[in-house]
Amino acid sequence: MNEVVYKCRSCGWEGAAHLLETDTVETCMGSDVVETCPKCGSPDIRAVSK
Ligand SMILES: [Zn+2]
Repeated sequence: MNEVVYKCRSCGWEGAAHLLETDTVETCMGSDVVETCPKCGSPDIRAVSK
């Protein structure tokens, strides 16, 4: 069974999905929820399966 972790490409933080922060962004289509790094706040998060 593969474990999926999330990795921040800005600061290198790595952790489980429930540790991510979420941010609501207003777009022309309405509001959108993005996952952000809890350490540096970057939305540049990538899912990595180990
Ligand atoms: Zn980060």
